[in-house]
Amino acid sequence: KSTILTGITTTGTPHLGNYVGAIRPAIKASKDANASPFYFLADYHALIKCSEPEKVRHSSLEIAATWLALGLDTKNATFYRQSDVPEIMELTWMLSCVTAKGLMNRAHAYKGVVAENEATENTDPDKGITMGLFSYPILMAADILIFNAHKVPVGKDQIQHIEMARDIASRFNHIYGEHFVLPEAIIDDNASILSGLDGRKMSKSYNNTIPLFVPEKKLKKLINKIKTNSLEPGVAKDPTDCTLFSTYQAFASEQEVTDIRQQYAEGIAWGEMKKILFEKINSEITPARERYEALMQEPAHIEQQLQEGAVKARAISAPFLLELRKAVGIQKIV
Ligand code: ATP
Repeated sequence: KSTILTGITTTGTPHLGNYVGAIRPAIKASKDANASPFYFLADYHALIKCSEPEKVRHSSLEIAATWLALGLDTKNATFYRQSDVPEIMELTWMLSCVTAKGLMNRAHAYKGVVAENEATENTDPDKGITMGLFSYPILMAADILIFNAHKVPVGKDQIQHIEMARDIASRFNHIYGEHFVLPEAIIDDNASILSGLDGRKMSKSYNNTIPLFVPEKKLKKLINKIKTNSLEPGVAKDPTDCTLFSTYQAFASEQEVTDIRQQYAEGIAWGEMKKILFEKINSEITPARERYEALMQEPAHIEQQLQEGAVKARAISAPFLLELRKAVGIQKIV
């Protein structure tokens, strides 16, 4: 069985981008008997970007309820909270000690902030960069390697981190013997990256999201807020770089997309397109929204599911960590 792994950072309310890019394909994979999926709430990752405890706590509840409402098969999948598996943090340290600083210097997330600082002529290029941000690819490597995950479905922006996880794993294997499988990134070329209300990538950190399970009325309102150009009805419109169109594509069949493309050429009014998009998304998520609302009233049930997931996860991570401790020479004297 191949082990696949996906995590969602607990920094806010899950949105349409998380759904289309990660959760929807992962739920599908959770039903594949040939796969052994590991899905987790990345709450230690959340601390890198968010220092609001209540937000992190509430986000964990919302994200867990989302996975369950969407029908995650918790028998086949191991569904857990990162912080319930302390072996991940212990492994992070072991990996930190074999990771060259130079490798982390090249990480996009870190380099991006340095570049921004330099662009604003900031005297300190490292302004606002914590060690958490700098070394987060190592935490991500530990997430993957602790379960020897073979396949990690990721967006194109995350390919570098998987390569880093491979580098780190090879280095460890080279020094201490073969312990880790080298993970592979699985990139779905058809997977779309949804844009947010402001046209940038939809992201919890940008405050530009359409939360997945907002009430119907609110969903309609948010879709109406998506930025468009000012072309009048009747004027032909270009579907390229159009958030309404690309979002529709992520929910509709090929035939439906072809039809809409035609309607763009004929000059569909933006108001009409927004209505069509709302109806498409709403009909797909309404059944799950009802389950989500019910689950949010049952936090004890959700906690129970996470506890069960943690037991399953630790049955693997705890003995593996003992093996790794021994490999590096950390063990009882007698
Ligand atoms: P944050 O701002 O905290 O990083 P995020 O909303 O950008 O949060 P993550 O929790 O880091 O998302 O990512 C979880 C998963 O959702 C990842 O697999 C990521 O590729 C996917 N994802 C996030 N945003 C989008 C998007 N706009 N379109 C498609 N997939 C996305």
